[in-house]
Formats: sequence, structure tokens, C-alpha cells
Amino acid sequence: MKKHNFSAGPCILPQSVLKKASDAVLNFNNLDLSLIEISHRSKDFVDVMENARALSLEHLGLQNKGYKALFLQGGASLEFLMVAYNLLEKKAAYLNTGTWSDKAIKEAKLMGEIDVVASSKEQNFNFIPKNYKIPADADYFHCTSNNTIFGTQMHKFPETAVPFICDMSSDIFSRQLDFSKFDLIYAGAQKNMGPAGTTLVIIKEEILGKVSRTIPSMLDYKVHLSKDSMFNTPAVFPIYVSMLTLQWLKDLGGVSEIEKVNNVKAALLYNEIDRNDLFKGFVTNAEDRSKMNATFTLTAENRKEAFDLMCKDAGINGLNGHRSVGGYRASMYNALPLESVQVLVDVMKELERKG
Ligand code: PMP
Repeated sequence: MKKHNFSAGPCILPQSVLKKASDAVLNFNNLDLSLIEISHRSKDFVDVMENARALSLEHLGLQNKGYKALFLQGGASLEFLMVAYNLLEKKAAYLNTGTWSDKAIKEAKLMGEIDVVASSKEQNFNFIPKNYKIPADADYFHCTSNNTIFGTQMHKFPETAVPFICDMSSDIFSRQLDFSKFDLIYAGAQKNMGPAGTTLVIIKEEILGKVSRTIPSMLDYKVHLSKDSMFNTPAVFPIYVSMLTLQWLKDLGGVSEIEKVNNVKAALLYNEIDRNDLFKGFVTNAEDRSKMNATFTLTAENRKEAFDLMCKDAGINGLNGHRSVGGYRASMYNALPLESVQVLVDVMKELERKG
């Protein structure tokens, strides 16, 4: 029996995907060769890349709308810089909702002026700022849709006339949105998609080509687009596993179906956090709570040892909060079954019963 894996990332992937991925490492497409020992230019792998790119756009409803998908390397962290390198001429607007937004701001500052339109940093990022103004003369607006560390999530997005850039690393493919609002979306694979090692970048092509600086080839989205995401050797294994996960999601009925399950999982856990006096949610406004990462603490520190032991005995893995928040963080990505959340909730109830 596998553990109940609440890890924040890298994190749980569907068991059927892991099985297919393992098979492909030994013998891919009955070629009597491994997926990771064939040329990335072979038809078998080019098909994988094209399928992964197409499925990404399909899940977001962005086919035939001027968008292209890329699978790049360097993690979401390199996108912090690449976004600015490719799009920032003079000034960009950023919403600061957590550590990852903060890091994106730091990199972008290397390329120009940054207007932080609002920030929750003073309150250790325990809410999502609202009612800010995005300057009309900004080259773009950037935000983080889900704050993996603090457990907040944007449930409403601002209207803006400037290009809209979003880091969706920890909630992509988990819920339906009007994705055509966004001009560039990026996400490291290692949450809802696959192993670490590749980053999905979805770009509306018309926003490119407007900065005056010379962009090094590897940092230039146009170069990657012109080579169909094969400018250099792509991360073949992470891309293959991402493709399998995207196919798994399609077979389940797509983002709209997984969203229903994600809503049930989040409601189950948050109801228990709110009902059980031994627990307290970290996020101040319930409306800002993340459905992917639930952050909470024990109200009585002296119950920590007992709770940790009960979690361990129940086969629960990866529940420790990030060091900047403390307490606990239950990450409930797409592949985490509802039963795992039920097991955690049962342990929380049992702790209460023990008195
Ligand atoms: N953005 C968000 C929202 C994240 O959760 C993470 C990683 N957990 C990153 C960016 C950084 O991603 P990477 O480690 O792939 O560079």
C-alpha cells in the first residue's frame, strides 16, 4: 500500500502514469530501446513533444487562439528572469503574494523598473491583496496564482489592459478559468504534471518582439518557438511523463472534472480545520484559501508529538509546513485521491477524541 502523499512538490503523480513511465524507461513504443536512450529528433519522441504541447493548450481551451506551448528547462525560477528579459522594456507591475512572487520581482528588477502594485509581505503573506491599480503604462502585469508555501490562492483575477503574465506552477490544470485572459502562463512540471526538470510556458505570440535588448538564444522565447521547443535537447523524460499525466487528465474528463474532486477534497479538510479546536488555519481570509495547499497549525503545541506519530502510523507523508510558515501543509494536487484526505481528517478527529 502506497503512502498518502501530501508532499508540496515534487509530489504525488497518478500510479498508472508511474507504471507507464517505468515501462517506457525499459522499452519505449516496442522499439526495444529506452525512452531515454533514443534521439530527441526521432519521430517517436517528436510525437511525444507535439502531443504534450497540444494537450496543454487543449486542457486550457487555448487551441487556435494565437497561443503556443513550450517545454523549457531551468524551472519556474528561470521564467522569473526570462519573462522580464523578453517583455520588460521600461516598467512592469507585480503583485507580491509570497516567496515566489518576491523572487520573480528580484529577477525582474535586473531588467527595469518594477512597480509592486500591492503586497501582503508585512503579514507574512497570509492573505491576497485586493483593490490595487495596475498602471496602464506598464509593459505587463505579473502575479502568482497559487502560493505554494503560504497556502493562498487567487480566486479572482484583475482586469488589465496590459499583457497578463501568471506563474501557475502549483495550480495549473486544477481548475477552470478563462485562460485567454492571460498572455503568458508558466508552470514548473513538478506539481500537477510530472517530474521536476521541465517547465511549461504558454505564450500568446503577439506579445513578443517588443523589447530593444539583445536576448541570448537560450533565454529567447522566439528562438524556442521557432524550433518547436527543440532548440536544444529537451528534458525527454519529464516531458514524456507530463504527456502521460495530461493524457490521464483527459481520460478523467479534463480540468472541469478534476476541479470537482479538488473542491470536495479542499472542503473536507478545511471543514475539519474550522470545526476541530485543536487546529487553526494559517490564512486569515477564508476566501483566499488555496485548494491545492492547505496550511494549518496545532492550537496546542503539546499535541504535536502525538499528532505526528498518528500521521506516521496512518501512512501520511509530506505534511510538514514550510520553514517560513511552520505547522503543517497538506498539498492536495490533482493526483491525490480523496481517500488520502479522508485518512488525514480521520486522524485529526482521532486526536480530538483522545482529549
Ligand atoms: N513558483 C511557484 C508558485 C512555486 O511553487 C515554485 C516551486 N515550488 C516555483 C515558482 C519555483 O519553481 P522551480 O523550483 O521549478 O524553479
